[in-house]
Amino acid sequence: MKINVAKSAGFCFGVKRALKIAREIAQSGTKVEMLGDIVHNEEVVQDIEKAGIKKVKRLRDGKNKTLLIRAHGASADVYKRAIQKGYTIVDATCPKVKEIHDLVQVSKDEGCRIIVIGDEHHDEVRGIMGQLKNRAIVIDTLKNIPLTKIKSIKKACVVVQSTQNVEKTLKIVDVLKEHITTLKFYNTICNPTRIKQKEANDMPLENDVMIIIGSRTSANTKRLYEISKSHNRRSHWIQSSIELKPEWFSGAESVGIMAGASTPDHSTKQVIEVIRSL
Ligand code: SF4
Repeated sequence: MKINVAKSAGFCFGVKRALKIAREIAQSGTKVEMLGDIVHNEEVVQDIEKAGIKKVKRLRDGKNKTLLIRAHGASADVYKRAIQKGYTIVDATCPKVKEIHDLVQVSKDEGCRIIVIGDEHHDEVRGIMGQLKNRAIVIDTLKNIPLTKIKSIKKACVVVQSTQNVEKTLKIVDVLKEHITTLKFYNTICNPTRIKQKEANDMPLENDVMIIIGSRTSANTKRLYEISKSHNRRSHWIQSSIELKPEWFSGAESVGIMAGASTPDHSTKQVIEVIRSL
């Protein structure tokens, strides 16, 4: 059986950068805290905790402590409160997410209503909304467009959570354009996501079986799985090699392997080894 690994498999540059910053700051000997997980992957989270970075639910006394802002970014309020409490801030927000923060702030100053295409419960979207005083409109799917609200908007700026599905996003924007006279659309889906999604569209057509590796909490892995499944029913989403089932590969001549943006390379290597042994 031929094993084809996606060129884009594994960490994107934003995750690599955040982990490098986290490890460097942990080695410096300062007390480091972080609000939530550094990325959506349990193994990576454990590694970072072992390195000495503490995950906290809320900001406490920040004297002699550093607050690490994660790759997903944070709201303006988090920065403000952290400084008030005495933390030193080290910012590992992905530059692509920072660009979205800047875009919504500039667009708001130009008098635009901000619309975010994404999952309102995702940390990245919370961070984007948290750059604004007025609440942004968040749209997650085509069927959930709040048409009554949308129709009353004269001027809007649309940004997108960096890991959204490209095709679904464009369909939502088409509907918005029908109802809003002046609409500026910034397609802020990041390049690593686009490349991964392109492979998720191509590889399932070229391989008998598809394996997508990544945490159940990883939004970008979920998207890769959904795209793959839409082309090839023999697509399987696993978190690690333990979940592989021999019967999935029955009669298969080729298997395609993809891994989410927060999946470490060693997880992918383990999966490849187990599939080879089958
Ligand atoms: S998925 Fe894109 S936006 Fe998110 S951390 Fe990676 S490069 Fe940055």
